[in-house]
Amino acid sequence: MSERLFLSPPHMSGREQAYIAEVFESNYIAPLGPMVERFEQAVCDYTGAPYALATSSGTAALHLALRVSGVGEGDIVLASSFTFIGSVSSVLYQQAVPYFIDSDETSWNLNPVLLQRAIDNAPKPPKALIVTHLYGQCADMREIMRICRAYDIVVIEDAAESLGATLDGVATGIWGDFGVYSFNGNKILSTSGGGMLAGKEKAKIDKAMFYATQAKEPTPWYEHRELGYNYRMSNVLAAIGVAQMEVLGERVAKRRQIFQWYEEALADIGEIGFMPEIPGAAGNRWLTTVLFEKNDPETVRLHLESAGIESRPLWKPMHMQPLFKGAAAEVDGTSERLFAKGLCLPSGTQMRHGDVLRVAEKVKEALL
Ligand SMILES: *Cc1c(COP(=O)(O)O)cnc(C)c1O
Repeated sequence: MSERLFLSPPHMSGREQAYIAEVFESNYIAPLGPMVERFEQAVCDYTGAPYALATSSGTAALHLALRVSGVGEGDIVLASSFTFIGSVSSVLYQQAVPYFIDSDETSWNLNPVLLQRAIDNAPKPPKALIVTHLYGQCADMREIMRICRAYDIVVIEDAAESLGATLDGVATGIWGDFGVYSFNGNKILSTSGGGMLAGKEKAKIDKAMFYATQAKEPTPWYEHRELGYNYRMSNVLAAIGVAQMEVLGERVAKRRQIFQWYEEALADIGEIGFMPEIPGAAGNRWLTTVLFEKNDPETVRLHLESAGIESRPLWKPMHMQPLFKGAAAEVDGTSERLFAKGLCLPSGTQMRHGDVLRVAEKVKEALL
């Protein structure tokens, strides 16, 4: 019996425990400390972000981005529909109003033409946009920034899945006003759980830090004028993050290698299509995703499962979710089709060529 293949298990570098030992020696077993700062600096150095704040999750970082952008009750927030819930739950936390935008065929990410249409059709000027770089592949930020700048819309990049990806040599998360990364267990890097808010304006990141630490005023006693959260990252988990950042380049190269192995192994299957990469982009290929023109991906998924291989449908678009029933949306069927036809294949960076071939063989077996 072959070992079970998971979709995207954590992959430690081997240096994590040494850094955790340093944390224990310093006794900063707390949501602050030198490792948190080192981790933030490592993300800044790698991505080129001027400022960064480590948080308890990517979802928390997205919430902080909306909060410091002044998004509140009744404000319109434009957002990619084809994404994971953590991308947009903060819109509801802020009692703002989501306006979903479909994907295009060239990027599978936010369609700039539909973005313009949403701005034109919105009952009032939208305040912010949350744009996701799905599966580590870049959205068309050149066009998206051009449009949003013209309307003074704050751009928040959900780069939770795309740490290490670049477009025109610029990291995802650095194009907009804010970028958010996630270090959840199945992301390209893992701290077991955690996130990072990157930003260009120091005052905004300082304010996010204030909200992330219970909005305590700078008095000796606990004085509170505003509502805050407990959103900071633990110094212990930041130690894992510091070790993980040291191997990000390797991890990106390996994910791209795995994607290439799948492409080669499935090249002779005419009905299978892969997620594209727009010109100028170098995605991190977090998950290799395939589309089946004829077959039902659920049949393939069940066949893989019976062989001890984990796979997963693509994200179900937000405009199809019962939670967002009745929300405004500019959709043209693209993400609904991708959802109906697609499957994410195991893409963990410990995979060997033989593992990819084993998955590809089982995929072929399942096809009619
Ligand atoms: C993982 C993820 C998030 C949320 O990150 P957490 O750290 O799990 O809160 C947000 N958006 C996308 C697209 C994600 O994949």
